[in-house]
Amino acid sequence: MTRDQAKAQGLARYIGDECKRGHFERYVSTNGCCECMRLWKNERTGTPEARAKNKKDKESRKEKRGTAQTQKYALDQAETKRLASKGRSLWTQEDTRTLKKMVGDGESRYEIAMKLGRSRAAINRRVEVLGIGNQKDESV
Ligand SMILES: [Zn+2]
Repeated sequence: MTRDQAKAQGLARYIGDECKRGHFERYVSTNGCCECMRLWKNERTGTPEARAKNKKDKESRKEKRGTAQTQKYALDQAETKRLASKGRSLWTQEDTRTLKKMVGDGESRYEIAMKLGRSRAAINRRVEVLGIGNQKDESV
């Protein structure tokens, strides 16, 4: 019987070519040798020692993966932070002076943002930090 024939008949296993260890029964789904699969499983789970070792291996793999993920996460965080700080240029004294003057003159945050080449959110943050927001509110 061929694998295709077995598949057509909806069988899970079939008798096919001899595997390298001399078995004939194969799985239709994977074409793997059933007996070899059994032996492989037994090796890993057949004895308490094998089970313990398998469990330990699994846990150490899991641990390693966890560490890798934590490291990747930390890297991502650092990268995000780096990009954020790069995008946000520092306020110079000149900028701050201009900001204070414009806020004092009752210019809109949009005008200020345009003039200083910053986002309105950045202007609002700076205004809050400087505590000069009230003048603006009264002029609206
Ligand atoms: Zn085999």
